[in-house]
Amino acid sequence: KVRVRFAPSPTGPLHIGGVRTALFNYLFAKKHGGDFLLRIEDTDQNRYVEGAEEYIIEALNWLNIPYDEGIGKEKDCAPYRQSERKDLYKQYADALIESGNAYYAFDTSEELDAHRKDHEEKGKTFIYNWHNRLKLKNSLVFSSEETRQKIANGEEYVIRFKSPVNETLHLNDIIRGGIQVETSVLDDKVLFKSDGMPTYHLANIVDDHLMKITHVIRGEEWLPSMALHVLLYRAFRWDAPEFAHLPLILKPTGNGKLSKRDGDKMGFPVFPLEWKTAEGELFSGYREDGYLPEAVINMLAFLGWNPGTEQEIFSLEELIEAFELERVHKAGAKFDPEKTKWFQHQYIQNVDNETLAGKFSKLLKKKGISTKPVLSADEGLDVTHIVSLLKERATFVSDLWEQGSFFFEAPNTYDAKAAEKAFKPETPELLLKVISILNTSEDFSIEKLSEAVKGWITSENIGFGKVMMPLRLALVGEMKGPDVFDILSILGKEESNTRIKNAVN
Ligand code: GLU
Repeated sequence: KVRVRFAPSPTGPLHIGGVRTALFNYLFAKKHGGDFLLRIEDTDQNRYVEGAEEYIIEALNWLNIPYDEGIGKEKDCAPYRQSERKDLYKQYADALIESGNAYYAFDTSEELDAHRKDHEEKGKTFIYNWHNRLKLKNSLVFSSEETRQKIANGEEYVIRFKSPVNETLHLNDIIRGGIQVETSVLDDKVLFKSDGMPTYHLANIVDDHLMKITHVIRGEEWLPSMALHVLLYRAFRWDAPEFAHLPLILKPTGNGKLSKRDGDKMGFPVFPLEWKTAEGELFSGYREDGYLPEAVINMLAFLGWNPGTEQEIFSLEELIEAFELERVHKAGAKFDPEKTKWFQHQYIQNVDNETLAGKFSKLLKKKGISTKPVLSADEGLDVTHIVSLLKERATFVSDLWEQGSFFFEAPNTYDAKAAEKAFKPETPELLLKVISILNTSEDFSIEKLSEAVKGWITSENIGFGKVMMPLRLALVGEMKGPDVFDILSILGKEESNTRIKNAVN
């Protein structure tokens, strides 16, 4: 059975890359009827950030990509927080020492720095591995007796992986295909630290094994660790899962990796939710900026993947159906905030008017305008109807206000340029005539109003612009908004008359 995991470290808010990794894992799991796990990799206490775990869970919930197993959904593999699995890892490090695949190392950081510097001066890179270390004067792979002695004396040590000498590894990545790695270029990575905590590498492999993970789907930044991970599986004599490394997400210009700072600089949100830094600094995210989770999901899906067809709008179900790791690209994926807006625009068109009216009413309420979602004309404004007229031009709920605030607030100024064009000496007379037509209209429906006003314009041979332009300006304050007769019929006789009179005076 397919089992995949999203294994974030709680070091801050989830950025786009993290959410994309979560989504691709989710899609792959659901496509294959498998399980999607959430594991929190919090073994690095120095990088731990309070609240990050809650944030991650809330982000997945908001995006509607729930995990099957993990914190709060404990199953056989619990616990799912590595800090709570701490006692488990030491025995695995010990087993590797036992089998000759790992060793104790006692180097101080000063010694390591000295080696690094020494190499730099000679124009070489310092690769920490045991066969190199044998050549160094002051650091040795200690014999068991010496090692025991040192540990007994309380000397600080770490446990390092013993990389094989001069071997060519043939690795396979579902997205990248075959990759060759020479083991002589590998560092002997630390598996277990002096503070009694495993490093990411050890904990990750042990947990993926114990949690029966079949596919490791993660960001490209982990590709260089793949060789070590495969070697670790071999050392433990465990079957390795399959690997798929997702392409980097690039800045909109394609020039370098997208970072959280870009979000601020370029004026688009990088996070799915609002995040406050420890200093209280606020990053506003997709949710706060009014994006629909469905639009964000659709945008994320196209970061490095495409269906191979023209179709761009995908529901989550359709994504599950169409998703294939084989169709994920190797090349970095450019993040395009404009495209994200385009998705959002498409999705908001599909939200039914009642639901959208509900969201819009909340915004109106915040502005101190009280409305019920659906009201008959004499009880007040019909927000659902208004929404149906404004929707086409809206990308965010806030655009409905931009486009249609005049329904709720009479204009108190008129767009100067438009006024110059629209308000002519004969305008007051024409608009007063409109008022009289409105007053005699029993039926304030769009059809009847338009029939009456247009009939008069045609019969008097006045010219539409001369009436319609100042009329719109009187009602709206600018040359925007839906059809004038729609506006008249929504505002009703009294309000329309007041606005027209105000414009004439
Ligand atoms: N904890 C790692 C991270 O934060 C997980 C990498 C992996 O999926 O192996 O990205």
